[in-house]
Amino acid sequence: MYFKTLAKQDCTGCTACVNVCPRQCILMRVDEEGFYYPIIDKEKCIECGLCEKVCPVESSQSSNDSMPKVYAAYLRNTGERMKSTSGGIFYAIAKWVVEQHGIVYGAAFDENFKLKHIGVDRMEDLSQLRGSKYLQSYVGNVFSEIKQHLKAGRWVYFVGVGCQVAGLKAFLRKNYDTLITSDLVCHGVPSQLMFDWHLGYLRQKEKGQIVSYSFRDYEGWGGCEKYDFISLNGKRITRKIYGYFLSPYLYSFMWAFTHRYSCYGCKFARIPRQGDVTLADFWGVKKFFPKINADKGVSLVLVNNCQGNRIWNQVNSELEYQESSVENAAVENANLTHASSTIPQIRRHCYEMIAQRGYKSVAENEFRISNYAKIQILMKLKHSKAGILLRKIKNII
Ligand SMILES: Cc1cc2nc3c(=O)[nH]c(=O)nc-3n(C[C@H](O)[C@H](O)[C@H](O)COP(=O)(O)OP(=O)(O)OC[C@H]3O[C@@H](n4cnc5c(N)ncnc54)[C@H](O)[C@@H]3O)c2cc1C
Ligand code: SF4
Ligand code: SF4
Ligand code: SF4
Repeated sequence: MYFKTLAKQDCTGCTACVNVCPRQCILMRVDEEGFYYPIIDKEKCIECGLCEKVCPVESSQSSNDSMPKVYAAYLRNTGERMKSTSGGIFYAIAKWVVEQHGIVYGAAFDENFKLKHIGVDRMEDLSQLRGSKYLQSYVGNVFSEIKQHLKAGRWVYFVGVGCQVAGLKAFLRKNYDTLITSDLVCHGVPSQLMFDWHLGYLRQKEKGQIVSYSFRDYEGWGGCEKYDFISLNGKRITRKIYGYFLSPYLYSFMWAFTHRYSCYGCKFARIPRQGDVTLADFWGVKKFFPKINADKGVSLVLVNNCQGNRIWNQVNSELEYQESSVENAAVENANLTHASSTIPQIRRHCYEMIAQRGYKSVAENEFRISNYAKIQILMKLKHSKAGILLRKIKNII
């Protein structure tokens, strides 16, 4: 229990305790690594114990099915599919909820690239939520807001990583007919501070203002750092860095160098999952469905309970899908059923190292792979210009 131990691995930062406190005497405070942790104002606290009771890290049991229905699925509408991270199932559900005059909660960047959960109820605003952002989103008072909407009988769709969905459910303490939740299969989250450092590094490197940033390839399916910046002479330039291993941010994320401490040994990375519908990438889908059109992304969908089934039946006419199994889905998606690895050695000191030596130095030394390994990876990448050139050279010699 975090409030007793104050051990960082015991708190995911979900904010359920902040939202439940009847005296509003819990604040989320940022630590030296940029992660949020709750802190109680002892002067105002009446020792009711609600904050401890609500904490989902303590009672992370889920009442969902231990044998969910599993699908490989993607949107029939290719344009919308390509604006999504994997197959676009989030969009299909969100659109249905907006059509019911409901409200959709997910993670969006503000104008300063700070990631926060927000609610939107217009189709044109859904784009802010779409796309995976590989850092922790700040939830704030969103759970209390959601409760008000549900009490008023409004449809609400909440999407978040497992600990956030568990936090919302623990806070609400009962099922609502008009609530739909989706948990994302989650590799772990770096802090906002780590991402701010990375943006600062890109700004310096490009000598320009970063105006847009994405973590994934929306033309194909896979990892790709893409950003736009305004150069010194006022031109808007787009950079695409194909392959996780060529971006220090994505490289350190993939190797779990920079995760929040609660992510190692995450209690939510298991079946039964937390949401009504679990969303993820169906990595390795071709092994099981060789004819599936996978180039533009395929979602892994787990329908975990009756509410999940209800919404699945509402949206599946917009999807191409095939039934699969947890066993097949987990072959190339370890985080569906297991937390990320034990804490890598570098995790203990990488934030401190950056604070001392600067991000550039750590990014260019510790968050990178050898040139030989880079060449091997580049040669395997279909889209990369460098990869195409290297393959041509290899064919000539
Ligand atoms: C931090 C993180 C780690 C992930 N790790 C894995 C993994 O190991 N394996 C895997 O298969 N899939 C993982 N995913 C999920 C995957 O990247 C896709 O988000 C998922 O397949 C949904 O795709 P989509 O096309 O349906 O939705 P999209 O249209 O891409 O929508 C994504 C949804 O996720 C929400 N979201 C985006 N970023 C965050 C965030 N930081 N915190 C909370 N919610 C967010 C958005 O609000 C939106 O609702 C991860 C996602 C995140 C955010
Ligand atoms: S014990 Fe009650 S009043 Fe005190 S911080 Fe926790 S929820 Fe708030
Ligand atoms: S309820 Fe959430 S934020 Fe509060 S202590 Fe537990 S995990 Fe941390
Ligand atoms: S790995 Fe677990 S604890 Fe960490 S952000 Fe994801 S769901 Fe939350």
